[in-house]
Amino acid sequence: LREIHSKLRDGWTVLTPTARMARVLREEHERLLGPGVWDSPKIFTIDAWVRERWLEFAWTAGEESVLLNAAQEKQLWQQVILESEEAGGLLQVEAAASLAGDAWRTLHAWKLPWTAYALEQQEDTAAFYRWSRRYAQICQQRSWTDRARIPDALPLATERIAVAGFLQITPQQRSLLDRLGPGWESIEPFEPNHPISGKAGFQTVESEVRAAALWAFEALRANPKAKIAIAVADLHAKHRLIERVFLEVLHPDLFCFESPSEQTRTFSVALGKPLAANPMVHTALLILRLGKGELSLAETGSLLRSPFLGRGLAERTARAVLDAALRQPHPTHLSLAELLDGARTKAPVLANLLAKFDKIRRGLPKSTMPSSWASHISRLLRAMEWPGSETFSPAEMQVVEMWHEALSEFASLDAICGSCSLSSALECISDLAYSRMLPAGEDAPIVVLPIEEALGLRFDCLWVLGCTADSWPGPPRLNPFLPIGLQREKGVPGSSAENMLEYTAKATRMLLESADDIVFSWAGRDGDRELRESPMLGRLSSVDVETTAVAPVIAPLEEVLDVQAPPIPKGAKYRGGTRILQLQAACPFRAFAEVRLGSVAMESGESGLNPRDRGKLLHEVLRIVWNQLQTSARLHQASDKELDDLIRGAIRKSQWPPRDAFEREVFLLEADRLFALVKDWLKFELTRGSFVVVGQEHGRSVEFGKLKFNARVDRVDRLPNGFEVILDYKTGVIASSPWEGPRPAEPQLPVYAVSHPTQLGGVAFAIVAQGEMKLSGLLDNPSSIPIADWREVLTQIANDFARGVATVDPKQHPDTCQYCDSKPFCRVSDGQ
Ligand code: SF4
Repeated sequence: LREIHSKLRDGWTVLTPTARMARVLREEHERLLGPGVWDSPKIFTIDAWVRERWLEFAWTAGEESVLLNAAQEKQLWQQVILESEEAGGLLQVEAAASLAGDAWRTLHAWKLPWTAYALEQQEDTAAFYRWSRRYAQICQQRSWTDRARIPDALPLATERIAVAGFLQITPQQRSLLDRLGPGWESIEPFEPNHPISGKAGFQTVESEVRAAALWAFEALRANPKAKIAIAVADLHAKHRLIERVFLEVLHPDLFCFESPSEQTRTFSVALGKPLAANPMVHTALLILRLGKGELSLAETGSLLRSPFLGRGLAERTARAVLDAALRQPHPTHLSLAELLDGARTKAPVLANLLAKFDKIRRGLPKSTMPSSWASHISRLLRAMEWPGSETFSPAEMQVVEMWHEALSEFASLDAICGSCSLSSALECISDLAYSRMLPAGEDAPIVVLPIEEALGLRFDCLWVLGCTADSWPGPPRLNPFLPIGLQREKGVPGSSAENMLEYTAKATRMLLESADDIVFSWAGRDGDRELRESPMLGRLSSVDVETTAVAPVIAPLEEVLDVQAPPIPKGAKYRGGTRILQLQAACPFRAFAEVRLGSVAMESGESGLNPRDRGKLLHEVLRIVWNQLQTSARLHQASDKELDDLIRGAIRKSQWPPRDAFEREVFLLEADRLFALVKDWLKFELTRGSFVVVGQEHGRSVEFGKLKFNARVDRVDRLPNGFEVILDYKTGVIASSPWEGPRPAEPQLPVYAVSHPTQLGGVAFAIVAQGEMKLSGLLDNPSSIPIADWREVLTQIANDFARGVATVDPKQHPDTCQYCDSKPFCRVSDGQ
């Protein structure tokens, strides 16, 4: 570092491979300079420096070439591929364009021979050869150049240059450095040291991450000024787990109650996220997609809940209510018109915004230039008052600026894209928002970073996480558009297992020199995947890492057992009918949450009919059929044709008008299914003795103990002896002992039986299921119906509900909880 410091003072330029390295060296240099006013040190990443040099050269030498930005390059590759004969056979032109751009940069960086001989050996490389010739031809005709070629175009100059922290210098970089600074030097930014190092294996990835977090906590406690790094082999795949476990260990208090802001954390994860993943930009993209006419149900919900839509916070409750209402018929998509209709009654401010938005949308051209789309897009967003009217934090301001930069970048594509449709414009903008990365934020005392970014840096303590045989070294990464042999011959990184091994060995040596205290770790299992220790760790000795210590940063949490809700108010009636007792019997907390608090999951979009719709349709068809037939005698008398007509007519009447062409087709299929099902059921009913249907879907008010509610009986048949039989239609499986014990699984028939005003001849489930048509219940002996027992059990359950008993007590965990929406609320898994 002292050498770099003195070179910078002598006017040298220092080039680094990563922005992090440049930042760290700058900070160290300024620390050594001490307080005062100094010239800004010349420390740059090599890419930024080449770009600046080229722009300077183009300005002073009157160079006519225009340097394409990343979006323009990608768009040009896309155009070239779309115009080629291979376009028809490609499923993902955009992905092919990204790969072609990578191949083009590799070709130049590693000085691979760009000849027909080298590149036309296979189908993929031959296609790339033709695309790259066309790409180069267009660039030449229009005086364009790109990032891959500018290092070769820089003229001879004299500049004293030091490169620091490079694991590999490409042939193109080397020849550039040779031309620019004959005396350029490669220096190690930090002195090699002799650290205490070791390796540790763990059972699972989570236990490995937890151990690293505890180790970092201990290291920070021992030395609050220490620089601690956790370098991760595959940070993209593990960053969510790391974020969660580090929060649990280092900020348990904040983890429980609120997410700590970046400033208060003792750790930071240095992984930039795409601009499109930011909620503000996500909202902008949803608004623009709505401009095409519709959004999926989930996207509509996300838009309605967004605070970045005009006056989103002020109208948030009304918009949440609108979101729930729009989900009722569970459509998969919602049009702008449907959203506007719903908003008019429930969220007037939003309705106003949507109306303005729709007006602008209707006036949009079918096709225009990107620069023109950029201004239409800004108008559409302004109409929806994006990004909201609240004040912004500096981080949010930065996001807005980056969005505007992405939009300007899109506007610069006129010459490449030409006139395009709104759909293409939105695709391109969304692509730009996904490819721009938000800065990872300032480093905290403990920094979690990808291994590549840790190389060449200096820390006090370093933990290298994820050193398994399959990720350290990782598998080769070949570009399919370049000949494999050529990539291997020139040593392109990742082109062979040997090459990866060599790279990893060098990187491991570098890591071993970068801290005083180093641990390399691996996990033996990731889910059901068995893992092994990386061969790179062979010579290191094993160390014991304390994993049981718990960071004592908060007082133990107070445990409160709260199982008692307030009793229900006198005279209160609750919706839900017999389901109230069913839920209370299955789990008192579920009954409290669903019936008293109305806590149910929001509907999600489903194509076609869900099981609930199917059940409703069947009940309705049977009701209409028996309304007409009335008696078993009429059923016996009816001809086949009459029955068929009766069933088909009932199906027609029971179906609601289809919402779209898909639902129309689904109804046709469902009609056939229902017809077969009801026909079979009537065949079964022919085998029963005589009866008259005396009631269908009759509602009655019932009262058990302190609870009053309405119950609706599917059907009541009167037998020739005057006794009545209560039937409850079922289309699926029923519990094996549905009415037994103090917590009956299906209390509805007991409720109807106990409250039935006349002499009962039986109670039964009418099971209407393919191949299973039957009556299942107590039908043979009316005296076997345990009315008194049922009354006692039902009264007890009803009184528990009325008293507010709300214990988290599923009858049979986990089966009872399987389809319960209240899991996140009751946190049953915490107590098991
Ligand atoms: S998830 Fe289980 S324990 Fe929790 S409320 Fe539902 S049924 Fe009860």
